[in-house]
Amino acid sequence: MKAAIVTKDHRVEIKDKELRPLRSGEAKVDVEFCGVCHTDLHVKNGDYGDKTGVTLGHEGIGIVSEVADDVKSLKIGDRVSIAWFFEGCGRCEYCINGKETLCREVKNAGYTVDGAMAEECIVTADYAVKVPEGLDSAAASSVTCAGVTTYKAIKESKIKPGQWIAIYGLGGLGNLALQYAKNVFNAKVVAIDINDKQLAFAEESGADLLINPSKENAEEIMQEKIGGAHAAVVTAVAKQAFNSAVDCVRAGGTVVAVGLPPEAMDLSIPRLVLDGIEIIGSLVGTREDLREAFAFAAEGLVVPKVQKRPIEDVNAIFDEMQAGKFEGRMVIDMDINH
Ligand code: NAD
Ligand code: ZN
Ligand code: ZN
Repeated sequence: MKAAIVTKDHRVEIKDKELRPLRSGEAKVDVEFCGVCHTDLHVKNGDYGDKTGVTLGHEGIGIVSEVADDVKSLKIGDRVSIAWFFEGCGRCEYCINGKETLCREVKNAGYTVDGAMAEECIVTADYAVKVPEGLDSAAASSVTCAGVTTYKAIKESKIKPGQWIAIYGLGGLGNLALQYAKNVFNAKVVAIDINDKQLAFAEESGADLLINPSKENAEEIMQEKIGGAHAAVVTAVAKQAFNSAVDCVRAGGTVVAVGLPPEAMDLSIPRLVLDGIEIIGSLVGTREDLREAFAFAAEGLVVPKVQKRPIEDVNAIFDEMQAGKFEGRMVIDMDINH
């Protein structure tokens, strides 16, 4: 079967790869769609260590085609997701206390185990979340990482209805952050992106205030116009955005870090202490967060904008992503060209 595999020179090769036989607790999935996340770009570039040989992909949706004898949670024909949070140990403090994505023995799809940018994929049955009826598979693929990650980040921000939330970066994650913030949490949204096309798209999706920080001072505008945001969620892949987020919130505000540029942010200790700013890192979401994020999308409150592409386009997609050339999410459709 075809799979998108990371090469030594930081490209991706579409190669034939044999799946190993299923082990206890596992299921095989025929992949329908797999979204391309900026994290895949970091992984193939080796931003967090060399990952040569791994099959990318953690925004997968597919149909179960086989289950190991002892599997009770899935049956053939079920439609399931293949997410970054692929498996936890199920026993540690994080797994038990509702923070399973922090499990020290975690497995991540398309990173520590082979992912869903392939015609077929193996999942740990108890960790593959089912997709509700009424949600299209291509849209569900975006919710599997971009959706659940931003839904969870907004929960972590503790934003209340009517309050202002600043979303930095309106790409694949940010546009869904905007929709969850407005349509599920009933917040007012400031959209901040250096790309005017992303801002125009954010406006269409209902953003209340738009700022391009390459032309204007985002912190000043927010402090002047709205008295500072109550919270900020940063999906932008640039430290400047993290620094700006700390300065854009009002006293007592919360900054939720989601984007993963491999660099450090500056942080004024007096600003942190005297203004009581809270800074939180948020990593994808639990299985329960994903169920909730799916349910809101199935209700039509969040509508991912996806463009379907063949798996052969994967290197072109990464080049376009790096150049900030597209809006919404590129989703690999396993049926195109086959
Ligand atoms: P994307 O490329 O689709 O979007 C990034 C957006 O940030 C683009 O619109 C870009 O124009 C904008 N941007 C860049 N520099 C900016 C700046 N200085 N100010 C404002 N906007 C700026 O990427 P994506 O798929 O949405 O992923 C975003 C980041 O989130 C990546 O680093 C990815 O690895 C990370 N991520 C984290 C988690 C998590 O669990 N925390 C999950 C998924 C992705
Ligand atoms: Zn992702
Ligand atoms: Zn654990």
